Amino acid sequence: MDKVKEFISLVSDSEKIVLVSHVNPDGDAIGSTTGFKYFLEQNGKSVSIVVPNRYPQFLGYLDINEEIVAYKGNEDEAVKIVEASDLIICMDFNALKRIEELGGIVGKSGAKKVLIDHHLQPEECFDIIFSDPQASSTCEVAYYLIRDMVEADSSIKPVDLKSGLSFYTGLMTDTNNFANSVRPQTFKMACELLELGIDKEDVQFKVYSGFREERMRMMGYMLYENMQIFPEHKAGFMLITKELKEKFNFQDGDSDGFVNLALNISGVEVSGLFTEADGFVKVSLRSKGDFSVNGLSRAFFNGGGHERAAGGKIFIPTDEVLDYFLHSLEEYRHTI
Ligand code: 5GP
Ligand code: MN
Repeated sequence: MDKVKEFISLVSDSEKIVLVSHVNPDGDAIGSTTGFKYFLEQNGKSVSIVVPNRYPQFLGYLDINEEIVAYKGNEDEAVKIVEASDLIICMDFNALKRIEELGGIVGKSGAKKVLIDHHLQPEECFDIIFSDPQASSTCEVAYYLIRDMVEADSSIKPVDLKSGLSFYTGLMTDTNNFANSVRPQTFKMACELLELGIDKEDVQFKVYSGFREERMRMMGYMLYENMQIFPEHKAGFMLITKELKEKFNFQDGDSDGFVNLALNISGVEVSGLFTEADGFVKVSLRSKGDFSVNGLSRAFFNGGGHERAAGGKIFIPTDEVLDYFLHSLEEYRHTI
Protein backbone atom coordinates (compact mmCIF):
# COMPACT_ATOMS: atom_id res chain seq x y z
CA MET A 1 0.00 0.00 0.00
CA ASP A 2 1.11 3.51 -0.70
CA LYS A 3 2.83 5.11 2.34
CA VAL A 4 0.43 8.03 2.63
CA LYS A 5 -2.65 5.78 2.53
CA GLU A 6 -1.04 3.47 5.07
CA PHE A 7 -0.46 6.47 7.34
CA ILE A 8 -4.05 7.70 6.90
CA SER A 9 -5.42 4.34 7.98
CA LEU A 10 -2.98 4.18 10.93
CA VAL A 11 -4.21 7.58 12.07
CA SER A 12 -7.87 6.70 11.64
CA ASP A 13 -7.43 3.43 13.57
CA SER A 14 -5.72 5.20 16.50
CA GLU A 15 -7.56 6.28 19.62
CA LYS A 16 -4.69 8.13 21.27
CA ILE A 17 -1.88 9.73 19.37
CA VAL A 18 1.26 11.22 20.90
CA LEU A 19 3.65 13.52 19.07
CA VAL A 20 7.21 13.55 20.36
CA SER A 21 10.06 15.91 19.57
CA HIS A 22 13.70 16.43 20.51
CA VAL A 23 15.53 17.70 23.59
CA ASN A 24 15.88 21.48 23.83
CA PRO A 25 12.92 21.90 21.48
CA ASP A 26 13.29 24.72 18.97
CA GLY A 27 10.85 26.49 16.65
CA ASP A 28 10.71 23.57 14.24
CA ALA A 29 10.19 21.01 17.02
CA ILE A 30 7.37 22.98 18.66
CA GLY A 31 6.01 24.28 15.34
CA SER A 32 5.81 20.85 13.72
CA THR A 33 4.27 19.10 16.74
CA THR A 34 1.70 21.80 17.56
CA GLY A 35 0.88 22.25 13.86
CA PHE A 36 0.35 18.53 13.39
CA LYS A 37 -1.63 18.28 16.63
CA TYR A 38 -4.02 21.05 15.58
CA PHE A 39 -4.42 19.45 12.15
CA LEU A 40 -5.21 16.03 13.66
CA GLU A 41 -7.56 17.54 16.25
CA GLN A 42 -9.44 19.36 13.54
CA ASN A 43 -9.92 15.92 12.05
CA GLY A 44 -11.39 14.54 15.24
CA LYS A 45 -8.36 12.88 16.82
CA SER A 46 -7.16 12.97 20.42
CA VAL A 47 -3.53 14.13 20.46
CA SER A 48 -0.86 14.87 23.10
CA ILE A 49 2.65 16.30 22.75
CA VAL A 50 5.59 15.15 24.88
CA VAL A 51 9.11 16.61 24.71
CA PRO A 52 12.18 15.80 26.86
CA ASN A 53 12.45 19.25 28.45
CA ARG A 54 10.80 22.66 28.33
CA TYR A 55 10.71 24.84 25.24
CA PRO A 56 11.97 28.45 25.36
CA GLN A 57 9.41 30.95 26.53
CA PHE A 58 9.15 32.83 23.24
CA LEU A 59 7.49 29.80 21.62
CA GLY A 60 4.66 29.81 24.16
CA TYR A 61 2.20 31.34 21.68
CA LEU A 62 2.15 28.05 19.74
CA ASP A 63 1.17 25.97 22.79
CA ILE A 64 -2.23 27.63 22.89
CA ASN A 65 -3.71 25.78 25.86
CA GLU A 66 -0.34 25.01 27.51
CA GLU A 67 -0.80 21.32 26.79
CA ILE A 68 2.76 20.33 25.89
CA VAL A 69 4.19 17.99 28.53
CA ALA A 70 7.91 18.24 29.30
CA TYR A 71 9.27 14.91 30.56
CA LYS A 72 11.79 16.66 32.81
CA GLY A 73 9.83 17.58 35.92
CA ASN A 74 6.68 15.66 34.84
CA GLU A 75 8.18 12.21 34.35
CA ASP A 76 5.16 10.19 35.50
CA GLU A 77 2.67 12.11 33.40
CA ALA A 78 4.91 11.92 30.30
CA VAL A 79 5.46 8.17 30.66
CA LYS A 80 1.72 7.60 31.18
CA ILE A 81 0.86 9.50 28.00
CA VAL A 82 3.40 7.62 25.88
CA GLU A 83 2.40 4.24 27.32
CA ALA A 84 -1.32 4.91 26.73
CA SER A 85 -0.82 5.89 23.09
CA ASP A 86 -1.44 3.56 20.20
CA LEU A 87 0.37 5.75 17.68
CA ILE A 88 3.65 7.61 18.31
CA ILE A 89 4.67 10.21 15.77
CA CYS A 90 8.28 11.35 16.14
CA MET A 91 9.00 14.76 14.66
CA ASP A 92 12.19 16.69 13.91
CA PHE A 93 14.74 14.10 15.01
CA ASN A 94 16.20 10.97 13.49
CA ALA A 95 17.42 8.81 16.37
CA LEU A 96 15.80 7.85 19.68
CA LYS A 97 18.81 9.05 21.67
CA ARG A 98 17.80 12.61 20.68
CA ILE A 99 14.84 12.32 23.07
CA GLU A 100 17.08 11.09 25.90
CA GLU A 101 15.27 9.01 28.57
CA LEU A 102 12.03 9.19 26.61
CA GLY A 103 13.78 7.15 23.90
CA GLY A 104 13.73 4.03 26.09
CA ILE A 105 10.01 4.42 26.74
CA VAL A 106 9.17 5.05 23.09
CA GLY A 107 11.43 2.16 22.04
CA LYS A 108 9.69 -0.27 24.42
CA SER A 109 6.16 0.78 23.46
CA GLY A 110 4.14 -1.61 21.33
CA ALA A 111 2.48 1.34 19.54
CA LYS A 112 3.06 1.95 15.84
CA LYS A 113 5.80 4.50 15.25
CA VAL A 114 5.99 7.05 12.46
CA LEU A 115 8.83 9.46 11.74
CA ILE A 116 8.27 12.87 10.14
CA ASP A 117 11.64 14.57 9.78
CA HIS A 118 14.33 16.22 7.67
CA HIS A 119 17.61 14.99 9.21
CA LEU A 120 20.09 12.81 7.35
CA GLN A 121 20.33 9.07 8.00
CA PRO A 122 17.21 8.30 10.08
CA GLU A 123 17.27 5.27 12.38
CA GLU A 124 15.32 2.26 11.22
CA CYS A 125 13.10 1.73 14.27
CA PHE A 126 9.97 3.25 12.69
CA ASP A 127 7.04 1.58 10.92
CA ILE A 128 6.67 4.42 8.43
CA ILE A 129 9.25 7.11 7.64
CA PHE A 130 8.49 10.44 5.98
CA SER A 131 11.97 11.93 5.79
CA ASP A 132 13.19 14.54 3.36
CA PRO A 133 16.71 15.82 4.08
CA GLN A 134 16.31 18.36 1.25
CA ALA A 135 13.41 20.00 3.09
CA SER A 136 14.05 23.21 5.00
CA SER A 137 12.33 21.98 8.12
CA THR A 138 10.14 19.26 9.58
CA CYS A 139 7.30 21.76 9.24
CA GLU A 140 7.83 21.67 5.47
CA VAL A 141 7.75 17.85 5.44
CA ALA A 142 4.60 17.82 7.60
CA TYR A 143 2.84 20.46 5.50
CA TYR A 144 3.39 18.61 2.23
CA LEU A 145 2.48 15.29 3.87
CA ILE A 146 -0.86 16.81 4.90
CA ARG A 147 -1.27 18.01 1.33
CA ASP A 148 -0.79 14.42 0.13
CA MET A 149 -3.21 13.11 2.76
CA VAL A 150 -5.92 15.54 1.64
CA GLU A 151 -5.28 14.59 -1.97
CA ALA A 152 -5.64 10.88 -1.12
CA ASP A 153 -8.79 11.38 0.96
CA SER A 154 -10.92 14.43 0.32
CA SER A 155 -12.76 14.08 3.66
CA ILE A 156 -9.58 15.14 5.49
CA LYS A 157 -9.63 18.80 6.51
CA PRO A 158 -6.44 20.63 5.42
CA VAL A 159 -4.12 23.01 7.28
CA ASP A 160 -6.01 26.02 8.66
CA LEU A 161 -4.89 29.28 10.24
CA LYS A 162 -4.26 27.67 13.63
CA SER A 163 -2.00 24.85 12.44
CA GLY A 164 -0.61 27.12 9.72
CA LEU A 165 0.77 29.57 12.28
CA SER A 166 2.76 26.74 13.87
CA PHE A 167 4.09 25.48 10.55
CA TYR A 168 5.03 29.02 9.48
CA THR A 169 7.01 29.50 12.71
CA GLY A 170 9.05 26.32 12.19
CA LEU A 171 9.66 27.21 8.57
CA MET A 172 10.90 30.65 9.54
CA THR A 173 13.12 29.59 12.44
CA ASP A 174 14.73 26.51 10.86
CA THR A 175 15.70 28.52 7.78
CA ASN A 176 17.16 31.29 9.94
CA ASN A 177 14.48 33.67 8.72
CA PHE A 178 14.34 32.29 5.16
CA ALA A 179 18.11 32.53 4.62
CA ASN A 180 19.24 28.87 4.67
CA SER A 181 18.05 25.58 3.14
CA VAL A 182 15.27 27.26 1.20
CA ARG A 183 14.00 25.97 -2.14
CA PRO A 184 11.05 27.01 -4.32
CA GLN A 185 8.61 24.79 -2.44
CA THR A 186 9.66 26.40 0.85
CA PHE A 187 8.56 29.80 -0.42
CA LYS A 188 5.47 28.27 -2.01
CA MET A 189 4.46 26.92 1.38
CA ALA A 190 5.18 30.27 3.07
CA CYS A 191 3.08 31.95 0.42
CA GLU A 192 0.14 29.59 0.93
CA LEU A 193 0.33 30.00 4.69
CA LEU A 194 0.35 33.79 4.42
CA GLU A 195 -2.74 33.52 2.24
CA LEU A 196 -4.47 31.79 5.15
CA GLY A 197 -4.12 35.10 6.99
CA ILE A 198 -1.01 34.69 9.14
CA ASP A 199 0.23 37.99 10.57
CA LYS A 200 3.90 37.66 9.59
CA GLU A 201 5.01 40.85 11.36
CA ASP A 202 3.57 39.52 14.59
CA VAL A 203 5.43 36.20 14.21
CA GLN A 204 8.62 38.05 13.30
CA PHE A 205 8.22 40.20 16.40
CA LYS A 206 7.52 37.27 18.72
CA VAL A 207 10.50 35.26 17.46
CA TYR A 208 13.19 37.85 16.81
CA SER A 209 12.33 40.88 18.93
CA GLY A 210 11.50 39.44 22.31
CA PHE A 211 15.01 39.13 23.78
CA ARG A 212 16.06 40.32 27.22
CA GLU A 213 18.62 43.12 27.32
CA GLU A 214 21.11 40.74 28.99
CA ARG A 215 20.94 38.42 25.99
CA MET A 216 21.73 41.21 23.55
CA ARG A 217 24.64 42.40 25.75
CA MET A 218 25.91 38.84 25.82
CA MET A 219 25.80 38.64 22.04
CA GLY A 220 27.89 41.82 21.89
CA TYR A 221 30.35 40.37 24.36
CA MET A 222 30.61 37.11 22.43
CA LEU A 223 31.43 38.97 19.21
CA TYR A 224 33.89 41.39 20.75
CA GLU A 225 35.64 39.35 23.44
CA ASN A 226 34.90 35.67 23.00
CA MET A 227 34.87 34.75 19.31
CA GLN A 228 38.17 33.52 17.91
CA ILE A 229 38.88 33.25 14.21
CA PHE A 230 41.40 30.80 12.77
CA PRO A 231 41.99 31.68 9.10
CA GLU A 232 44.30 28.69 8.60
CA HIS A 233 41.40 26.41 9.60
CA LYS A 234 38.75 28.65 7.98
CA ALA A 235 37.04 28.40 11.34
CA GLY A 236 35.31 30.45 14.00
CA PHE A 237 35.06 29.44 17.65
CA MET A 238 33.02 30.52 20.68
CA LEU A 239 32.95 29.03 24.16
CA ILE A 240 30.28 29.68 26.79
CA THR A 241 31.46 28.54 30.21
CA LYS A 242 29.29 28.33 33.31
CA GLU A 243 31.08 31.44 34.57
CA LEU A 244 29.96 33.35 31.48
CA LYS A 245 26.42 32.05 31.86
CA GLU A 246 26.35 33.53 35.35
CA LYS A 247 27.78 36.86 34.19
CA PHE A 248 24.88 37.34 31.76
CA ASN A 249 22.13 35.57 33.76
CA PHE A 250 22.00 33.06 30.90
CA GLN A 251 18.68 31.35 30.16
CA ASP A 252 17.96 28.49 27.76
CA GLY A 253 17.73 29.71 24.20
CA ASP A 254 19.83 32.86 24.83
CA SER A 255 22.65 31.61 22.60
CA ASP A 256 20.36 30.74 19.68
CA GLY A 257 21.89 32.21 16.55
CA PHE A 258 25.35 32.90 18.05
CA VAL A 259 26.90 30.02 16.10
CA ASN A 260 25.91 31.65 12.81
CA LEU A 261 27.76 34.89 13.53
CA ALA A 262 31.30 33.78 12.66
CA LEU A 263 30.07 32.55 9.27
CA ASN A 264 29.37 36.16 8.30
CA ILE A 265 33.13 36.67 8.11
CA SER A 266 34.69 36.21 4.71
CA GLY A 267 36.81 33.05 4.55
CA VAL A 268 35.16 31.38 7.55
CA GLU A 269 33.60 28.14 6.38
CA VAL A 270 32.89 26.37 9.67
CA SER A 271 31.77 27.73 13.03
CA GLY A 272 31.64 25.99 16.40
CA LEU A 273 29.81 27.14 19.53
CA PHE A 274 30.63 25.14 22.66
CA THR A 275 28.52 25.48 25.78
CA GLU A 276 29.49 24.06 29.16
CA ALA A 277 26.64 21.99 30.67
CA ASP A 278 26.38 19.54 33.57
CA GLY A 279 28.82 16.74 32.82
CA PHE A 280 29.36 17.57 29.15
CA VAL A 281 29.96 20.35 26.66
CA LYS A 282 27.16 20.96 24.17
CA VAL A 283 28.41 21.38 20.61
CA SER A 284 26.74 23.45 17.92
CA LEU A 285 28.24 23.52 14.42
CA ARG A 286 27.42 25.46 11.24
CA SER A 287 29.09 25.71 7.85
CA LYS A 288 28.78 27.35 4.50
CA GLY A 289 29.80 25.96 1.13
CA ASP A 290 30.57 22.25 0.88
CA PHE A 291 31.87 21.56 4.38
CA SER A 292 29.69 18.89 6.06
CA VAL A 293 29.28 19.53 9.76
CA ASN A 294 27.06 16.42 9.89
CA GLY A 295 30.15 14.39 8.97
CA LEU A 296 32.36 16.34 11.40
CA SER A 297 29.89 15.87 14.23
CA ARG A 298 29.43 12.17 13.59
CA ALA A 299 33.19 11.67 13.52
CA PHE A 300 34.24 13.83 16.49
CA PHE A 301 31.31 15.18 18.49
CA ASN A 302 28.99 12.22 19.16
CA GLY A 303 26.22 13.82 17.16
CA GLY A 304 24.96 14.67 13.69
CA GLY A 305 22.30 16.77 12.02
CA HIS A 306 22.37 18.38 8.59
CA GLU A 307 25.22 19.13 6.19
CA ARG A 308 25.37 22.79 7.26
CA ALA A 309 23.88 22.63 10.77
CA ALA A 310 24.74 19.93 13.26
CA GLY A 311 25.24 19.38 16.94
CA GLY A 312 26.61 16.95 19.47
CA LYS A 313 28.23 16.52 22.87
CA ILE A 314 31.77 16.11 24.16
CA PHE A 315 32.99 15.03 27.54
CA ILE A 316 36.21 17.00 28.10
CA PRO A 317 37.17 20.00 30.30
CA THR A 318 36.36 23.41 28.83
CA ASP A 319 40.04 24.40 28.64
CA GLU A 320 40.67 21.53 26.22
CA VAL A 321 37.75 22.30 23.91
CA LEU A 322 39.54 24.69 21.55
CA ASP A 323 42.43 22.31 20.91
CA TYR A 324 40.02 19.45 20.35
CA PHE A 325 38.00 21.52 17.86
CA LEU A 326 41.04 22.58 15.83
CA HIS A 327 42.44 19.06 15.92
CA SER A 328 39.10 17.61 14.74
CA LEU A 329 39.06 20.03 11.79
CA GLU A 330 42.57 19.01 10.77
CA GLU A 331 41.81 15.31 11.05
CA TYR A 332 38.43 15.58 9.35
CA ARG A 333 39.80 17.55 6.40
CA HIS A 334 42.32 14.78 5.84
CA THR A 335 39.55 12.23 5.53
CA ILE A 336 37.45 14.10 2.97
P1 5GP B 1 21.79 23.11 17.24
O1 5GP B 1 23.18 23.54 16.93
O2 5GP B 1 20.80 24.13 16.82
O3 5GP B 1 21.60 22.60 18.62
O4 5GP B 1 21.51 21.84 16.33
C1 5GP B 1 21.70 21.90 14.96
C2 5GP B 1 21.27 20.62 14.33
O5 5GP B 1 22.01 19.52 14.82
C3 5GP B 1 19.81 20.29 14.59
O6 5GP B 1 19.27 19.84 13.38
C4 5GP B 1 19.84 19.19 15.59
O7 5GP B 1 18.81 18.29 15.39
C5 5GP B 1 21.19 18.53 15.39
N1 5GP B 1 21.75 18.17 16.70
C6 5GP B 1 21.99 18.99 17.74
N2 5GP B 1 22.51 18.32 18.79
C7 5GP B 1 22.60 17.03 18.40
C8 5GP B 1 23.05 15.84 19.05
O8 5GP B 1 23.48 15.81 20.21
N3 5GP B 1 22.98 14.69 18.31
C9 5GP B 1 22.52 14.67 17.02
N4 5GP B 1 22.50 13.50 16.38
N5 5GP B 1 22.09 15.77 16.40
C10 5GP B 1 22.12 16.94 17.07
MN1 MN C 1 14.30 20.96 12.18
